[in-house]
Amino acid sequence: MNTKDKGFNSKLIHAGAYEDANGSAVNPIYQTSTFKFKNADHGARLFAGEEKGYIYTRLGNPTIEELENAVAELENGYKALGTSSGMAAVNTVYLAFLKKGDHMISHNAVYGPSRGVMETLYPGLGVESTYVDCTDLDNIKKAIKPNTKLLYLETPANPTMGITDIEGAVAIAHEQNILVCVDNTFCSPYLQKPINMGADIVLHSMTKFINGHADIVGGIVIAKNEELYNKLKYVVLNVGFNMDPHQAWLTRRGLKTLAIRIDRAQENAIKVAQFLESHPKVDWVLFPGLKSHPQYELAKKQMKGPGAMISFGVKGGLESGKKVMDNVHLALLAVSLGGIETLIQHPASMTHSKLTKEAREKAGISDELIRLSVGIEDVDDIIADLDHALSFA
Ligand SMILES: *Cc1c(COP(=O)(O)O)cnc(C)c1O
Repeated sequence: MNTKDKGFNSKLIHAGAYEDANGSAVNPIYQTSTFKFKNADHGARLFAGEEKGYIYTRLGNPTIEELENAVAELENGYKALGTSSGMAAVNTVYLAFLKKGDHMISHNAVYGPSRGVMETLYPGLGVESTYVDCTDLDNIKKAIKPNTKLLYLETPANPTMGITDIEGAVAIAHEQNILVCVDNTFCSPYLQKPINMGADIVLHSMTKFINGHADIVGGIVIAKNEELYNKLKYVVLNVGFNMDPHQAWLTRRGLKTLAIRIDRAQENAIKVAQFLESHPKVDWVLFPGLKSHPQYELAKKQMKGPGAMISFGVKGGLESGKKVMDNVHLALLAVSLGGIETLIQHPASMTHSKLTKEAREKAGISDELIRLSVGIEDVDDIIADLDHALSFA
């Protein structure tokens, strides 16, 4: 079905779907590693790219393509490439656009491993990086060098909820021919469309909101145009970052309910954030939907809604934070985010524990920071759970 002229929710249900020989309402899982050629000439034509068809699953598979086409359409991109994980998507971008002697600028509080891998593996490949607070566009300007090739943003950033002005950052980068990639995991295309704001590449950990059911790990990279797509495709196909068909099929199913899941989670998150902000044992709350968020106005302009991620600080620091986490019963004490279940975690001892305390503090991640991914349970139950846990702080 051609869904190009349809609304977002119709695209969520139908985009990427193709006619199946048996008329199935849901396309089957092509759980196969390889595809038969009709004869030698057919195989030759497929390899030469003279005829469309499938050869081998690492190079392309109908189930994976259905998901890729759907997400590319939702992000208003040219095409997309599914990857085995969100980190495979991140590394696809790094490998496609950074060569020996190149430099990258990124936000100081991006997803931990996105920075960790850049500072651990890429110096050995001759790639330099500078991490600054990108929520202040002047810092990006100052970090630009003659060899800067990539501006890698994440907004809202994990877990400080810092918001970078995508249009403003794109204007600065494009003036110097620097590509802009946005990790859009926290928003999903339902809340934010970076390509519409000028970004060249968008990526997701589909493990989070896009799949939304905490039952797969996966990623995707979306390119604005064919040239960028071809560079990304070379990496995915030849490094072997590709998805598995079953993983892609589950993700396509999860994607169908993206908007209604986010609507509910966001509605809950607004109430939870207000509850936390008025709680005597809570020091501060960072949520783009609260007027107290330092970039509340920018969030309203750039995002369709504040999302479902909240960071907050408990009075009493590390010890109090641990007590809260040990006393929640409904929320799961677990990393990850964007699923239907409420998750709670503590970055200083978990996701960002590999950074030094100084590096964490520089990135705005204090010891008392607790991160909450609000789910779609009854909001009264979520609030009661937090209220109970906070009584131990
Ligand atoms: C989880 C996450 C990633 C990494 O994705 P995986 O699927 O865990 O490999 C990248 N960026 C952000 C913002 C994330 O939350």
